[in-house]
Amino acid sequence: MSLRFLLLLCVYISVQAPSFAQQTLNLTVSEQAFLDKIDEIHLCTDPDWMPYEGIDKSGHYTGIMSSFHQLWSSMIGKPVVLVETVSWDQSLEFIQQKKCDVLSSAQDIPERRDYLTVTKPYITYSLALATHPDIPFIINLSQVKDKKFVMVRDYAAIKLIRDNYPGLNIIEAGSAVEGLKLVERGMAFAFIDTVPSINYQMLAHGISHLKISGVLNEQYNMSVGIRKDLPLLLSIYNKAINATSEAQRQQILNNWLSVKLEYDADYSLLWKLLAGLFIILLLSLYRYRVVHRHNRELKAVNKKLVYMSQNDQLTGLPNRYYLHEAFQEALQTYHRYQHQFSVIIMDIDHFKKVNDTYGHVIGDKVIKKIADMLSENLRDTDIVGRWGGEEFLIVCPETNNHGAKAVAEHMRRLIEDTDFGLDDLQVTASFGVTEYNEDEAVDDCIKRADMALYRAKELGRNTTIVF
Ligand code: GH3
Ligand code: MG
Ligand code: MG
Repeated sequence: MSLRFLLLLCVYISVQAPSFAQQTLNLTVSEQAFLDKIDEIHLCTDPDWMPYEGIDKSGHYTGIMSSFHQLWSSMIGKPVVLVETVSWDQSLEFIQQKKCDVLSSAQDIPERRDYLTVTKPYITYSLALATHPDIPFIINLSQVKDKKFVMVRDYAAIKLIRDNYPGLNIIEAGSAVEGLKLVERGMAFAFIDTVPSINYQMLAHGISHLKISGVLNEQYNMSVGIRKDLPLLLSIYNKAINATSEAQRQQILNNWLSVKLEYDADYSLLWKLLAGLFIILLLSLYRYRVVHRHNRELKAVNKKLVYMSQNDQLTGLPNRYYLHEAFQEALQTYHRYQHQFSVIIMDIDHFKKVNDTYGHVIGDKVIKKIADMLSENLRDTDIVGRWGGEEFLIVCPETNNHGAKAVAEHMRRLIEDTDFGLDDLQVTASFGVTEYNEDEAVDDCIKRADMALYRAKELGRNTTIVF
């Protein structure tokens, strides 16, 4: 065999060798010749018909049909290129204007026959009814023919149902989710669509309280729509559909209808749920902080009120009201344990003169200084308070007359020896002392101490008298 002959044979084989597509699809010479003339196949789709088909946010063709078209593209050996549209209506317009060659899925209906042919169906779905869950299972549409139904506008299935059930009240919704929501709100009895579409939309939009309560005999056949002036492309697609095995078909459907779909939907629901919980948490936290702050303010105000109700403003010592309570407590201890207690009433001598000579401000300072001296120098157990103007009362628990007199004398001398900061100001005080007598009234005990004080004044002041 000469070299020249060998070269000629190679050229002949390369021209005559059938392509991969020709082999697998068993294409005719004219079908292959058609393919050889084109670089790619232009496809239009419904941009919003998940799970069947759609265009995702990044402009990619997605859904069940996209997997079928990807498979057929590899069988045919030509890239299938998406011509992006914004609606199904626009896709129908585009194929009439020959801006695309195929419609990813289409029905054979008379109005389209001028410009469109369809392949044999490649998947078939029964139409179903989605209703509120309390509706019993529907076997036949004639059972509920007086009700109002909703379907997605412009889909071929509407015509199918209208032809088969003339007079059925069908309203049209802009999308599947809109249709489902009309049923959810009670504005329609049932939404009619295919089972996968109903399931997908319910999961994707969190509509959980509707159910599929009936499957109709009517079926929805999915075919590929081919421009009428491309009959060779129609026969090529029919061959690709014939060559699609049941296993390939099932795998595509399973991918979209079980795992992927539910996974995506669950995920988005989970995020929504977490976002909701987060917002509730933030609100609770905010509320807790507000309530906590108010409680704190309220506690502080209450504390102040309690203090004001029990203490004297000028000296900070317990007031007359509080002294009465201290008296009651000492009384209880006396009754329970027979522990003696005494009372001392103290009154500053000639205090009017202090005010008259030095003014009220100095008078206040003297009262305050004496109050501080009393609380600093008395025993921890003694309770001292301001009884009135320049009078103080001391309750001495566990103390009899003798002990109380010593306390009074100690205080009297302390006041007498205190320098109040003004040269000629000498301050003294008189003390009346008495111990509590069994079964007497509190007022009687105080009155006796007062009488002792009165006596001390009579005896020239700056003295302690015990009654
Ligand atoms: P005696 O020795 O008899 O107790 O004479 P006294 O002047 O102290 O007694 P009197 O009851 O006549 O006068 C008490 C004075 O104390 C009259 C009053 O204006 C004054 N006083 C009472 N409370 C206050 C106070 O909070 N501040 C000042 N600066 N003076 C007060
Ligand atoms: Mg007085
Ligand atoms: Mg006085």
